Amino acid sequence: MTEYRNYIGGRWQEALSGKTAEIINPATGESLGAAACGGREDARMAIEAADKSFYSDGVWRRMSAQDRGDILLKVADEMEKEKDNLARLESMNQGKPLREAECDVDDAVHCFRYYAGLITKPQGGIYDVNQGFGRMHSYMVHEPIGVCALITPWNYPLLMSVWKLAPALAAGNSVILKPASVTPATSVKMFEILERTGIPEGAANLVLGPGGSVGSELVENINVDMIAFTGSTEAGQQIARASVGNLKKTGLELGGKSPNIIFADSDLEQAVEWAMIGIFMNQGEICSGGSRILIESSMHDRFVSRLVERAEAMTIGNPLENPDIGAMVSESHMNKVLEYIETGKKEGAICLCGGKRCTEGNCEKGFFIRPTVFDGCDSSMTIVREEIFGPVVTVQTFDSEEEAVRMANDTRYGLAGAVFTRDITRAMRVIKEVRAGITWINCYNPCFNEAPWGGYKMSGTGRELGIHGLEEYQEIKQININLEEGPVGWYK
Ligand code: NAP
Repeated sequence: MTEYRNYIGGRWQEALSGKTAEIINPATGESLGAAACGGREDARMAIEAADKSFYSDGVWRRMSAQDRGDILLKVADEMEKEKDNLARLESMNQGKPLREAECDVDDAVHCFRYYAGLITKPQGGIYDVNQGFGRMHSYMVHEPIGVCALITPWNYPLLMSVWKLAPALAAGNSVILKPASVTPATSVKMFEILERTGIPEGAANLVLGPGGSVGSELVENINVDMIAFTGSTEAGQQIARASVGNLKKTGLELGGKSPNIIFADSDLEQAVEWAMIGIFMNQGEICSGGSRILIESSMHDRFVSRLVERAEAMTIGNPLENPDIGAMVSESHMNKVLEYIETGKKEGAICLCGGKRCTEGNCEKGFFIRPTVFDGCDSSMTIVREEIFGPVVTVQTFDSEEEAVRMANDTRYGLAGAVFTRDITRAMRVIKEVRAGITWINCYNPCFNEAPWGGYKMSGTGRELGIHGLEEYQEIKQININLEEGPVGWYK
């Protein structure tokens, strides 16, 4: 049986309690192996290793940016060589279609390359100042924060880990990664790569185990200097409350309920196809998903009938065979999504397609849900208000630009949103009114290592990716150099 173990202080080890948890392929219900089920004591051991690596040894943080960058470039090369294995494993553990898993590996490779390069570029600045004490140069240097705990979700297990590992390591921090309990497989492979590319002992640690024990220890422990978390808004709120002991820095990438606003002058086929990518990619287990379609009334009938036709034609099945829709990540998550669907029906939304589990063909033993479109929705409905995190989209209509903007912003979340129209002036006017961190015009969901990613409102704090994503893992130090003789005579 395959074993997935912890990697602490440069050594692979079982959980100190000896406990394991079975890892399941959600498409078949079969076992993928046993993962270490760590607890608070494993997390403390990893914190000690990271603390020693950063504060006592200092090898990684003192290395030149260029040398750290070179190691991260090797990581990227090794990942690229392992692309097929990584993608297959991700697909089998998470349930996503293989081609989507392949894109995730490509993105992860580029993310390492991006930060390997970025860390060697100039940061900060120099000011030539003269205030009271005479002429000085004041300059800024960026330094690593220290021990960073990285806690990641199950929807993009590899990519969400790399979005944190790459900038945190590039900046010179020592890190501890805790992936989601149900999807540890590719994180373990990632650490096998980190081990053989020469990251010093203790600079990168991996602890598998539940959020309630491993995660809580990382959040509460005063020797952790930063928490970078991606997951639900509820867990993010708990983390914000529990991390105040040493006022550790927290980056929170949380949930969403994002509007996709479609005006009647849009290209119908383009709008339908992007709307599908917006909500059905990754089986709808996507934080930025365009889960609320807001369509101008005069286009409603044409748009909805084409959307339903296309959704019903989507293939669903074993992710390794590249269907359009793969398996939900777990039985319990599938049941949660099915419950939302039932609630939608009870509250009066009209289920136009899908709306149930799929057990046909090779879906018999796995956890599959058909792509589901709800029409006739209004903003009081649970399925319009709450994040479902599955292949379920709601449709509401609007009659004016003002109404569209009001409906778009009628949510506690502010992660993403899109507008479709051929009128570029209107597109810019509307998108600027949408209170969300990631927005698109005439497309939905593409994201780039170069551009900052993060939410407004209850979708989180901070930004990942881009230059901002590196700065999240850095302190800024001001160094002032006196350029003249000292202040002799300042005191009478
Ligand atoms: P989750 O239940 O919040 O869990 C995320 C991670 O946090 C897991 O590793 C989990 O461990 C751990 N965890 C849970 N409670 C914790 C606590 N109190 N203290 C410390 N760690 C804790 O989220 P999920 O169900 O895995 O992922 C889905 C959510 O992530 C959705 O809401 C989605 O929108 C959000 N997401 C956001 C983004 C973004 O960029 N904004 C990207 C992807 C996903 P266990 O696995 O052991 O529970």
